[in-house]
Amino acid sequence: MKKRPLTPESYYRLPWNLADNAITWLEPTTKCNLYCEGCYRENDPNGHKPLEQVIRTLETVKRLRHTDGISIAGGEPLIYPDLIPLVRYVAAQGWKPIINSNGQALTPELVRELTAAGVVGFTMHVDSHQKRPGWSGASEMDLCELRLKLAQMIHDNSHGTVACSFNATIYRDTLPAIPMLASWAHQHIDIVQTMVFILFRSARKKNNFDVFANGRPVDIGNLVYQLDQQEQHHDIQSQEIADAIRMAYPEHEPCAYLNGTEIPWSMNGCSRSGWATRTRSSATWTPSSRNGRRSSTTCSSAPIWPTPRPVLDALVPEGPCRWRLCNKSLRTILAACSDGPSC
Ligand code: SF4
Repeated sequence: MKKRPLTPESYYRLPWNLADNAITWLEPTTKCNLYCEGCYRENDPNGHKPLEQVIRTLETVKRLRHTDGISIAGGEPLIYPDLIPLVRYVAAQGWKPIINSNGQALTPELVRELTAAGVVGFTMHVDSHQKRPGWSGASEMDLCELRLKLAQMIHDNSHGTVACSFNATIYRDTLPAIPMLASWAHQHIDIVQTMVFILFRSARKKNNFDVFANGRPVDIGNLVYQLDQQEQHHDIQSQEIADAIRMAYPEHEPCAYLNGTEIPWSMNGCSRSGWATRTRSSATWTPSSRNGRRSSTTCSSAPIWPTPRPVLDALVPEGPCRWRLCNKSLRTILAACSDGPSC
């Protein structure tokens, strides 16, 4: 297949700054029940933060930022003892609580309790580099059995009211699994709303840069994702993910991205793919870290459902361009969603 280079100048650059976050990332704990190779967080057995401290953080978020959802991550949030009151608090503020979990501790009862507390979505991190008990040596394809079990559990116990997304950190050896994963999500479109591919990136001490955080020098040799000694891991580029998705869906075209560096043509961010939006599921990809830091934003885990035709008709008046959009990818997607003409 002929490769088509990504052309950021033709996609929307998503607005994101310190004042406006579509989703705020919250870590009530740094304790986890797995050890993923690509994890940027040190697993601290005493990592649970007191609920009062977490709520104080959220009060600061409320004061300083506009946010739509709170992605409750970690560590592993399902083992955080005050998760239910935390979700209840987040929902009471008018934010959408989303659980970012590895799914290991998920039970039908917990799904029901979290649904009652106001959770709107789960983003489940499942991939083959997690040292997951009982899944030693499992391939990405083998793990689809676990993904399906989790998606079904969420769907059945929330009566279909809670969204289910999956993310997988993509390493060089799992890059070839992307067409299969995209097709798998498509096949289970009624219970899997989003597929996120996290590009493996690591901090490299040998690049010989001085690194600073808040004006203070940082020794990146102490970071858990400093991998100069692990040459089997090589950083993955956005173009490679797009090429892999196109193996299964040749028409795949990103429609938006988050920039990440000072280089205007770099796409250090996320994409919603046109194929997916048309088919009620979506694929996003995002780097797991950049320049030694994890990207502090995550791709939206809220599903994009095509807007039904009557709603579009009410929202967008007829005119020379009924979509009132200047982005060709979005126009094409909207037109396909409502069987309307592309302009
Ligand atoms: S499940 Fe998440 S927090 Fe736990 S080790 Fe893996 S990446 Fe880190």
